[in-house]
Amino acid sequence: MSWWRDLKATVIRDEPLKNKTNFKIGGKARFFFSVKNEEELRELVVISSKHKIPLFVLGAGSNILVSDVGIKGIVVKLGSGIFKEISFSKNNSVEAGAGVRLAELIGKTSAVGLSGLEFLAGIPGTLGGAIIMNAGAWGKDIGSIVESVRVMDNRGNIELLKRKKIKFSYRHSGLDSYIILGAVLKLASDTKDRINQRIKEYLKLRSNTQDNAYPNAGCIFKNPAGTSAGKLIDACGLKAKSCGGAVVSSRHANFILNKKNASSKDVLKLMNLIRDKVKSRFNITLEPEIKIWM
Ligand SMILES: Cc1cc2nc3c(=O)[nH]c(=O)nc-3n(C[C@H](O)[C@H](O)[C@H](O)COP(=O)(O)OP(=O)(O)OC[C@H]3O[C@@H](n4cnc5c(N)ncnc54)[C@H](O)[C@@H]3O)c2cc1C
Repeated sequence: MSWWRDLKATVIRDEPLKNKTNFKIGGKARFFFSVKNEEELRELVVISSKHKIPLFVLGAGSNILVSDVGIKGIVVKLGSGIFKEISFSKNNSVEAGAGVRLAELIGKTSAVGLSGLEFLAGIPGTLGGAIIMNAGAWGKDIGSIVESVRVMDNRGNIELLKRKKIKFSYRHSGLDSYIILGAVLKLASDTKDRINQRIKEYLKLRSNTQDNAYPNAGCIFKNPAGTSAGKLIDACGLKAKSCGGAVVSSRHANFILNKKNASSKDVLKLMNLIRDKVKSRFNITLEPEIKIWM
């Protein structure tokens, strides 16, 4: 059954995913596609439903842990064409494709004197990944500046969802059943100097607190209500704790570092150990922030 033969997008068979993730962990995707428009994506969505082949959407790979055995399905990246476009409108809004990197979006909006994205500086994801995760930092999240989101459902239908229809909450958008195609964000005008100054400050705060000495996926667990996962993990004495090549950062206890060619099993083992210790000491169940692709 060569279902991929007549598709508009070109398949890459057995594509290694390891270097497409920040963690630098994971096996191969059986079918990998980089799509450049909605039609190419729709074909894949329809075929994956028809043949019951699991479909995973890859953003920048900054918040995923991919299994060592890889993905026995379709991995699709919104990697070019309309998914990388950015356009501005007169009312201080910016519209961007889901595949645009946050860093590029921040750079382009600040260059035309549009403010509102500075708090996202240093988050290594795409707009699509940021919206689905409701990415945020320093008490703000991207949901608060979303005007509308263009999505595709699992039958290939496209919808434009207005802000008030989306239930954003902490690291949650409620949009998990959709593929994010792009979004309109509401920004405000400001001077380039003031915007760039804020970006610098946020980047400094980040480099003072996070640990990027080794590959990682950012915060592993969500913060439970009223406290930080990092504090709980630290209080359990787990900084520098390791399983194989995966090590809890000594700077930021909610970061797991891939220090020595860690496997996904090493990371999962360490995550389970952390969860068990935090549960038995504080009676709090930590919930993963990263997405685990099995
Ligand atoms: C060093 C570091 C620091 C970080 N700091 C922060 C931070 O301060 N705050 C924060 O919130 N996060 C942070 N992160 C996590 C991560 O960068 C964000 O969650 C980011 O928004 C994920 O985007 P991505 O494109 O990399 O998504 P990926 O990691 O590629 O994917 C994450 C999930 O989103 C899904 N997805 C991606 N694109 C789409 C799409 N177009 N449509 C539907 N689903 C999609 C994927 O299927 C997957 O389930 C950090 C990560 C790192 C490595």
